[in-house]
Amino acid sequence: MEFSEQALILQVGRFKEADLWIRFLSPSRGILSAFAFGGSRSRRRFPGCLDVFNEVLVKARSSRQGAYLALQEGVLLRGSRRLRADWARFGLAANCAKFLQCFGVGSEGADKVHLVMRQLLQLLEEVEAVSPYVPFLFRARVAFDQGYALSPETCAGCGCSLADRGARFSIEEGRLFCPSCAPRLIFGRLMNLGPAALALLAAVQQRAPGEWIDPACPERDLADCSRALDAFVCRHVGLTWEKGRFARV
Ligand SMILES: [Zn+2]
Repeated sequence: MEFSEQALILQVGRFKEADLWIRFLSPSRGILSAFAFGGSRSRRRFPGCLDVFNEVLVKARSSRQGAYLALQEGVLLRGSRRLRADWARFGLAANCAKFLQCFGVGSEGADKVHLVMRQLLQLLEEVEAVSPYVPFLFRARVAFDQGYALSPETCAGCGCSLADRGARFSIEEGRLFCPSCAPRLIFGRLMNLGPAALALLAAVQQRAPGEWIDPACPERDLADCSRALDAFVCRHVGLTWEKGRFARV
């Protein structure tokens, strides 16, 4: 196997003195690992490109027996200077990259994950203030894109519009109900989401990361929505952030 592709570097490790081990996200193959022999020394084959969160055009080839993948060369398409100079931003990006690795991204749907991760890195690179809730929203978006659907517009019980009344979110069912249906139909854990939290939820499903959070969205709705989405991802994807790492629930 040999291919050239735009890749987002998610993790870089050192292997022997001059060699690197790279984990990257490709838009057609998902997350792959490869060795970059001479990666930390060769300025001709890898001119300043093998750093975490860089977007790189990589050329990769399988070893003869197909036991591993080796990067032949790389060309930097977009760097992430600001991210690396700001630990808070770097931490948010690292959290999202770790989530992707635990979630597992194969070839199916890799294009969507690649796009939203690319947009997220751009957001972290460009905006002045970054909300600490972004990783929660990002995890939910990845889950939504991989088929864990949620309908924030209508009640799952009676079909009425939720836009003005807000909703009760059943974590176990992964569905939203209007205030009249929720007590009749649901016995499990419910979380309240007001209209602004529902609008945020819809934006997370449909828009790019830079358009998720309306500046007018009250802090409480932002927190409510993030908490609900965190519980949703924990319950349905089976991953939760605990003591600095993602754990299977
Ligand atoms: Zn209803």
